[in-house]
Amino acid sequence: MVDVLTKEQRKYNMSRIRGKDTSPELKIRKMLYTRGIQGYRVHYKLPGKPDIVFIKKRIAIFIDGCFWHKCPECFQEPQTRKEFWMNKIDANVKRDHDVNQKLETDGWKVLRFWEHRVRKDPESVVAEIVRILES
Ligand SMILES: [Zn+2]
Repeated sequence: MVDVLTKEQRKYNMSRIRGKDTSPELKIRKMLYTRGIQGYRVHYKLPGKPDIVFIKKRIAIFIDGCFWHKCPECFQEPQTRKEFWMNKIDANVKRDHDVNQKLETDGWKVLRFWEHRVRKDPESVVAEIVRILES
């Protein structure tokens, strides 16, 4: 089979498949960076692999995709293979809940932001993160 993807395209596809470096998360990281906030780790090895982690402050931040994590504002049930997808999504929601409990038990503050909020109003997300970091 002829390899028709460029290196960049393949990298992009792989990152989409792994669910890492999705654009809402990158957007927040870039905005934190421009505010001079840097001391965070990305995909740090904690339960649930938080997207952004401030280790010293013990703050774990997740940016949750509206479809995969069943956002109450935008989630719509898939039209095809409904049972298959709903099983997956419900398992995600349960895992999110378990992850929150584990992290909080270990003294972490967990922040979760919906993807739609990051897309519509990233400033408010960054402002909230900064406020909590400075508190
Ligand atoms: Zn949403």
